[in-house]
Amino acid sequence: MKTLLTGGAGYIGSHTAVAMLEAGHEVAVVDNYANSSAEAIARVEKITGKKVALYEADVADKERMMEILKAEMPDCIIHFAGLKAVGESVAMPVEYYRNNIDTTLTLLECMRELGLTSIVFSSSATVYGEDNVPPFTETAPKGMCTNPYGWTKWMQEQMLTDAAKASEKGEDWKTPLSVVLLRYFNPVGAHESGLIGEDPQGIPNNLMPYISQVAVGRRDHLTVFGDDYDTPDGTCRRDYIHVMDLAEGHVKAAEYAAEHKGTEVFNLGTGEPYSVLEMVKAFGRACGHDVAYEIGARRAGDVQDSWADASKAKAVLGWEASRGIDEICRDAWNWQSHNPQGYTK
Ligand code: NAD
Ligand code: UDP
Repeated sequence: MKTLLTGGAGYIGSHTAVAMLEAGHEVAVVDNYANSSAEAIARVEKITGKKVALYEADVADKERMMEILKAEMPDCIIHFAGLKAVGESVAMPVEYYRNNIDTTLTLLECMRELGLTSIVFSSSATVYGEDNVPPFTETAPKGMCTNPYGWTKWMQEQMLTDAAKASEKGEDWKTPLSVVLLRYFNPVGAHESGLIGEDPQGIPNNLMPYISQVAVGRRDHLTVFGDDYDTPDGTCRRDYIHVMDLAEGHVKAAEYAAEHKGTEVFNLGTGEPYSVLEMVKAFGRACGHDVAYEIGARRAGDVQDSWADASKAKAVLGWEASRGIDEICRDAWNWQSHNPQGYTK
C-alpha cells in the first residue's frame, strides 16, 4: 500500500513511518518543519534501510498539495500535520484554527478532486471533555473542550465525518470516502534504537519529556501539578501508550481504511492508568537514579483521570498495546541520553 503521512517528520509521524515501512508499505512524507526537522526522516531511513519520498510543503497550500498528491496518488493519507501545544493554543487561537482546520479542508478538497478514498486522522482523547467517566468508550458523547487545540480536533473529526457522509451520496465525490478517526491517549517513549524520539521545542509542556530532561540534567526538577486529587496517591492518572504501539495501530488503521467505507472511530490507548508519581518512579528505575520533583499547584484545565476502553481496536483492528511503562521509560531514556539536545546535537 502507498501511504502519505502529513506531518510525518514529527514525533508520532516519524515512528509511524518506521512501522509502515517495516510492514512493507511505501511512505511519502509532507512536512513544513514547523515543529520538526528533516533529520528525523534521515533516521527513519537509517532504521529501516528503506527510502521515504520527502516533500517540504504546507499542507494548507492547495496548489502544492495537488501536485504532491497527483505525483503520489496514495492509497491512504495519514493526517498528523497540526499544531498541538495546549497552552500556546490558548494564547494563539487564530493560528491554531487557521493551521489545523485549513490543512484538513485542503486535504478533503484535494481528495475529492483526485478521487482519493482513505484518510486516517490524528485525534485525541481530549474530545471526550470533562464530563465522561473513564474508561472512555468511543460511543461516549464528545464533550466541551477546555482549549482551542481541543476544539480543532473536535471540529476536524466533525468535518471528516460530514465529508464521508456526503461522499456516500456521490454528487461531487467520485467515490465514497473511508475516514478513520484515531483518538490517542498519552503517546510517550521512543523507538528502541534511540535514533528517533520526542524533541519538544523550548520548555516541555508534557510530563514525559519534562521528566526525561530532568533525568538528563537539562532541568533542575519536575513540578508535579497537584497531589490533592481523589486518586490513590493524589496525582492525576493517564493512559500512557508507547509510541511504537501507537505507530503499529496506524498500520492496522490504514489497512482497515483501505478496505472499508464510511467513518470509524478508535481509541488508541492501553486501558491501564498510571499516576504522575508512578511515572516518575518508573523513570527513576530506567535511568538508574531518582528524578527530582516538587509538588506544585494544580494546572488549570487538567482532568483528574483519563484512560481508554481499548477493546474496539482489539476486536475490529486486531491491535492492542503490548509495551508497558518500564519499556516506555527505558526507550525514552535511551533516546534522551543519546540525544540530550534532541535532533540538533
Ligand atoms: P509534532 O508536532 O511532533 O508533529 C506534527 C508535525 O506536523 C510536525 O512535524 C510539524 O512540523 C507538522 N506540521 C504542522 N503544521 C503543518 C502544516 N501546515 N503543513 C505541514 N506540516 C505541518 O506532533 P505529534 O506529537 O507527532 O502529533 C501528531 C498529531 O497527533 C498532531 O495532529 C497532534 O495534534 C496529534 N496528537 C498528539 C498527541 C501527543 O500527545 N503527542 C496526542 C493526541 C493527538
Ligand atoms: N504533569 C505534571 N508536571 C508537568 C507536566 C505534566 O505534573 O510538568 C502532569 C499533568 O498535570 C497531568 C499528567 O502529568 O496530570 C500528564 O500531563 P500531560 O501534559 O503530559 O498530558 P495531558 O494532561 O494532556 O493528558
